[in-house]
Parts: sequence; structure tokens; C-alpha cells
Amino acid sequence: MNDLIIGGSAAGVSAAEILRKFDQKSKITLISDERFALYSRCLLTYLIAGSIGEEKLYFKDQDFYQKNNIQTYLGKRAQAIDSKAQKVVLQDDTKISYDRLLLATGAQAKLIDVGGVEKQGVFTVRKIDDARAIIAALDQVKEIVVLGGGLIGLRDAYALALRKKKVTVLVKSAQVLSQMVDLQAAGIIAQRLAENGIKIMTGVAAKEILGQGSVEGVLLDSGERISAQMVIIGKGVVPNSDLASFCGLEVKAGIVTDEFLRSSSENIFAAGDVAETVDIARGDTRINALWPCAVEQGQIAALNMLGRKVAYAGSLSMNSVDFFGLGCISIGITKPKEKDYEILTKRQDERYKKFVLKNNRIVGLVLVGDIQAAGIVNPLIRNKVDISSIKDLLLEDNFNYAKILPLVVKYQDCFRKPEYQDTIISF
Ligand SMILES: Cc1cc2nc3c(=O)[nH]c(=O)nc-3n(C[C@H](O)[C@H](O)[C@H](O)COP(=O)(O)OP(=O)(O)OC[C@H]3O[C@@H](n4cnc5c(N)ncnc54)[C@H](O)[C@@H]3O)c2cc1C
Repeated sequence: MNDLIIGGSAAGVSAAEILRKFDQKSKITLISDERFALYSRCLLTYLIAGSIGEEKLYFKDQDFYQKNNIQTYLGKRAQAIDSKAQKVVLQDDTKISYDRLLLATGAQAKLIDVGGVEKQGVFTVRKIDDARAIIAALDQVKEIVVLGGGLIGLRDAYALALRKKKVTVLVKSAQVLSQMVDLQAAGIIAQRLAENGIKIMTGVAAKEILGQGSVEGVLLDSGERISAQMVIIGKGVVPNSDLASFCGLEVKAGIVTDEFLRSSSENIFAAGDVAETVDIARGDTRINALWPCAVEQGQIAALNMLGRKVAYAGSLSMNSVDFFGLGCISIGITKPKEKDYEILTKRQDERYKKFVLKNNRIVGLVLVGDIQAAGIVNPLIRNKVDISSIKDLLLEDNFNYAKILPLVVKYQDCFRKPEYQDTIISF
């Protein structure tokens, strides 16, 4: 067989690893427009902060592909897919044939429609090259504006504050982390950031990035000007799904996949930040753009490319942050709009807990301050366990396995890894 993967990150490399593990003879080819071995995007802001060196980013050695007999086209961009001829065309017109193709093209940072984004000193944080460019420019910078108060925007802001820069975060909505937590949790987090010198401005939008060639400040829609020598756009991501849509695959929020992560074309699969899959808590399909989801999807797609028929159970949105020692984790539905949800909350100083329940199943969780319960609650959400017998314990301090032992015993399978994961390598 002749397997081709586009994308050399979490989904693509985990797929390549499984393909090689179970088939020593097949031809495996991987195309990536980045020239690096597998590295963690999740750690990029730690690199920017100066908390880790670049060597800590890498999950694989440079010779990983060679050792696994995987042919690579690194630093090359796939430009088109000819699904009839079963060929991928690179930018330099090289044509690569395949029997089975995996699209693991991920996502890119979302840009915004504001004047001045092309100015020197405007960055996004998605790739190693972005982090390197930011670090290289930092010496000349005292003040930084971060556009966006989501997960990536706040992590950028935190990293730059650790570099002793004066950071202002502009948030369009009324709270930070609006996709992740409710107003209460957001308030605690924003306060911790503010106490440590990060200025958070909610309900504001940038009108223009000012400066002659390079950044000198940001003009707000209120008319206020904020002085800055660097602007970071942290407004979320958009999936790299153009290749798929141009070749006629079904694409909605991302590449539409079935339970075997197969696209609308028989021998083309999709995994990771570009793939739309089932969301366990919500029951709909969407992209949960998370590293562990990309790894798992890459592995399952590969097993299916090998003809093993492994169904993907779906993903859960799950995000965690830690700012100046304050941890926060959110899972699933945290701000339900409909009325048929039961909400349990408890706040004690900087500690906050929120459980979102539907039909006696936990479908969402927010923890701020003490985040230990997340490890217990995750499998309960994932497996839709009836928690009526432990409902009264959920908000208790020291909620732990011992407290819910009868439930753990009854549903012990939920606390085990799925069977296919025994075949899988984690990184
Ligand atoms: C700053 C930051 C922090 C994050 N923190 C977390 C975290 O704490 N927890 C978490 O779970 N997730 C986190 N994420 C998200 C996580 O990194 C992604 O979910 C994960 O990288 C997705 O992997 P992927 O393989 O699907 O795609 P990607 O990692 O996006 O990789 C896709 C690769 O394909 C390449 N490519 C795209 N199109 C083409 C083409 N046409 N030809 C050739 N190559 C192409 C891209 O350049 C890229 O190298 C973070 C992301 C960022 C940027």
C-alpha cells in the first residue's frame, strides 16, 4: 500500500507512527510545509516566556522519519489534490501518488480585519517560526497589545508579562475566556492577571494598528490610543480545509468525517484541527482543536486506513490554563443556553466550581483554583454516567475517588482506556 499524509504535527505524525507500527512494508510519505520534527505547539508560549528552551518543544528527533522509513517532503506545501488520479500536487508541481490519503493539515491563526495588520511588529502564535520572530523582536519592545482574550490570547499575554513587558489585552466580549468559562470564573482569572500587571480591557475593539511601517500603538473604536511596539493577534484559529474543499470533499466547520474518520471520499481520511467530528457532551459535530484529540484522531484514522474498522467515540472540549499559580480547567458545556440544564456552583474566595448537568449526567465542568476533580469528572462526562447517587457530593471539598467509590466500581470500564489504545503510543 501507498499511504500519504499531509501535515507533520500531532495528527499526521501519530498516524504515520501507527501506519508503520502495523505495516512494515507499506510506502508511507508525509508532506509538511514546516521543516521541523514533531514539536509541541502547546509549549510555544512557554518558549516565548523564556520558561523553556527550544529543545524542550520537540517530541521527536529529527531522524524519526528516517528511522521509521517514512519518506518526507518537508518545507513543501501541498497545493492540490487530484482525487480521481489519486495524486497530490506540491507547489513546485511535484506529483505524489497515493492509495490512501490522510489530511492532517490542522489550523492556522485567525487574522482580523483591522487596518495595519501588515505592519512590522504584528504577530500571531501558531508555529515555531512565529515564536522565534517574537523572541527576536522583544529587546526593542516595552509595551505590547494582545488582541483577543481567549485561551491563546491570554497565554500570549501571560508569557509576555513574564518577560516583564507592559501588556494590555483587548477583549471584544464582556469577559475573558468567553468560549471556555462563565462570567464568575472569568472574573477570578481576570483579577489574578490584573493583580500581576496585565491590563485587561473588556468590551473594546481595535480600530487600527498605528505606526509608520512598524507598530507604534493601537487605536480603539472608542478613539482611545494605546502605545505599543508589538501587537499579538490571539483571536483563535481557522482550519486549513481549502485543499479538501477545492477537491470536492464535504467541508462544513472542518472536513466532515464519519465515525471512522473517513471524509466524503472513500480513500481520504481527516484528523486533528482540520476535522469535524462528534462532540461527546453536545452530541453535535464540531472541531475540538486540541492536541490529545488530534493525536487520538490521527491514530484512529491510521487504524482505519489499515482496514481495522475502529470507530472514533468523539471528542470533548477541554481546556486548562494556569496564570500566576491560579489554575482553571473547563470541560464540555460550560455556558448552556437552553433551560433544561441543571447548574451547580460553589465559590469560595478564588476557588470556583461549576457542574452542568442534563438528565443526571454531567455535561460540563468549570474548576478554578482547585482543579483536581477534573481527572475524575472527565470519564464521567465522556461515558455519560448517571451521577444521581453522588450529586450531593459534587460540590464538596476534597471530592475524590474514595468519595465516589461505589460509582467507580460500578462503572469501572469508564475509568479504563479504550481497548484500541493498547496498540497506541503516547507522546
Ligand atoms: C499557542 C498554542 C497553545 C496551545 N495549547 C494547547 C493546549 O494547552 N492543549 C491542547 O490540547 N491544545 C493546545 N493547542 C492546540 C494544539 O496545538 C492543536 O490542537 C494541535 O497542534 C493540532 O494538531 P494537528 O496535527 O491537527 O494540526 P497542526 O498542529 O496545525 O499541524 C498541521 C500541520 O500541517 C501543515 N500544513 C497545513 N497545510 C499544509 C499543506 N497544504 N501542505 C503541507 N503542509 C501543510 C501545517 O503547517 C502544520 O505543520 C495550542 C495551540 C497553540 C498554537
